[in-house]
Amino acid sequence: MSVTQQQVLDSLKQVASPRGVPLTNANVLSAISVTDGKVFFSINVDAAEARAWESVRAQAEAAVRAIPGVATAMIALTAERKPGSPQAAPAAHRHSHGVQPASAHRPPQGAAASPMSKQAEIPGVAAVIAVASGKGGVGKSTTALNLALGLRDLGLRVGLLDADIYGPSVPRLTGISEKPQLDDNRKMIPIKRFGLSIMSIGFLVEEDTAMIWRGPMVMSAITQMLRDVAWGTLDILVVDMPPGTGDAQLTLAQNVPLKGAVIISTPQDLSLIDARRGLAMFKKVNVPVLGIVENMSYFQCPECGTRSDIFGHGGARHEAERLGVPFLGEIPLHMSIRTTSDEGNPVVVSEPDGPHAAIYRAIGTRVRDQLQGAIAAA
Ligand code: ADP
Repeated sequence: MSVTQQQVLDSLKQVASPRGVPLTNANVLSAISVTDGKVFFSINVDAAEARAWESVRAQAEAAVRAIPGVATAMIALTAERKPGSPQAAPAAHRHSHGVQPASAHRPPQGAAASPMSKQAEIPGVAAVIAVASGKGGVGKSTTALNLALGLRDLGLRVGLLDADIYGPSVPRLTGISEKPQLDDNRKMIPIKRFGLSIMSIGFLVEEDTAMIWRGPMVMSAITQMLRDVAWGTLDILVVDMPPGTGDAQLTLAQNVPLKGAVIISTPQDLSLIDARRGLAMFKKVNVPVLGIVENMSYFQCPECGTRSDIFGHGGARHEAERLGVPFLGEIPLHMSIRTTSDEGNPVVVSEPDGPHAAIYRAIGTRVRDQLQGAIAAA
């Protein structure tokens, strides 16, 4: 029996707002998405009232989950600070379900964010790292997945969180079409594939739905995917970030307990400028940049293996040297990297003894070496 929007609305009528009116009359609900028993919506309130609304959010979630046929309910409380209203205090409002007052979505004031603005570590996860890029289409997701696999090959326990909420591509890159189940504690169980624990917003919503999500909701959803997922014990959780360096990315970098970031760039100048912005963003929130990877660095002929530096390769290496951050490696533009990705069978898995897998493992080794302290401590 499929769940309808009307059933969701009927269940929400039974939940009262802090002022006592039914939630459905409080003018705070976003559009409600219902797909295959998975229900998503946000409750949008003024940041000054966010604390009072948290129990309402929890009640709404419980009411929706009680509807027969509902498998998952992800209800985000998003708080906008109205002009002239008092400054919201992020730490006081933050909680395990990710209330994000608008103040948490603005760039931090001053050069460095306070360590207190970081969310708590994820139990069982030794190190969370971000894979980021200044713009889309540079191969960030392909690199994130193959890097995760390279780290796996080093004997580490690795998870992959696809937080690219604007265009989650991990379902396609891994060929995963099943949906995560809930465990006894109602936490989502990540999908196991290629020895990785994988979670993507794309497992839960259709790609089109993800694209219309507004800034604050993005953070709530990602917080939930970090915290409401039974990750188990991991040495490294690789987070595939949304591309770009806007407010949403900055907030993510600030709120996810990152041990470091890897920046993906192509050799073209334009992409390098974007990569520089990425570096500046992580610096601003005190996240160490583990290094830069140059993707599509040179063209490698699939027939004869001849290498052509069609983009004037080496830009990222020079940039890394200039900025004093490690250069992690260069990945050629090669047909088999693209075809294997698009078939859901990444190159590190499909050609484990090939040259590309070796490159990703070498990059993984450089990343692991920098995280050794965190992994050993855990
Ligand atoms: P992003 O996450 O930056 O948007 P993707 O990882 O989705 O980028 O990659 C964009 C396209 O480029 C995909 O079709 C992918 O298969 C291809 N691609 C990525 N890296 C390489 C590479 N090194 N060689 C060939 N194709 C690549």
